[in-house]
Amino acid sequence: MKLLLAEDDAMLADALTTQLGGAGFEVEHAPNGAVADYLLGKQSFDIAVLDIGLPMLDGLSVLKHVRQTQPALPVLLLTARDALDDRVAGLQAGADDYVTKPFDFPELVARLQALLRRSQPASASALLGRLSLDAASRRALVAGDALELSGREWTLLELLVSQQSKVVTKEQITQAWSAEGGETGGGNSIEVYIHRLRRKLEDAGLVIRTVRGLGYLMEAEA
Ligand code: CA
Repeated sequence: MKLLLAEDDAMLADALTTQLGGAGFEVEHAPNGAVADYLLGKQSFDIAVLDIGLPMLDGLSVLKHVRQTQPALPVLLLTARDALDDRVAGLQAGADDYVTKPFDFPELVARLQALLRRSQPASASALLGRLSLDAASRRALVAGDALELSGREWTLLELLVSQQSKVVTKEQITQAWSAEGGETGGGNSIEVYIHRLRRKLEDAGLVIRTVRGLGYLMEAEA
């Protein structure tokens, strides 16, 4: 999960970067609002944490700007204690949640995870072993590292994951591929793709079993 952290307090930013890294986030740190705004426009993030009081461009302005192009990006604001106006303005500007400084780190992580769950409906994302799929961006991650998959490999993987522990037939695979508009392959071709996928999933804690005469099924490694 790629996270943008916009925070000008260097000590807090360092501590958060380390702790969020430990919690499984890949953190990009922006020390001011202008850098945050630039990074949000340039890179793709799964979630953003914006301090409101930032130099150069405040957190609310960064939020309003990113909302124009990324209405669905989960954004959590860091607000000062008692700054009720900030919180109201933040929610009005499209923030999904906020935490008030000083906050406990576990609370921040719990809020971030809740936002991520809300932003990825269960039907669109799945987690199996060390593999996670994001259907919206057609990305597969193993322990946080993106797998390089061709379009067909992605379709095959998504199908196996969606039917986990049930047999996926060769007909289903061929249909899924042709629904994508690509060429349809024969039986050999499916075997080639299964073979490639097995190699790419070696570190995922998953196995693709061949069920003779029927098809394939994916399950967690025993
Ligand atoms: Ca600040």
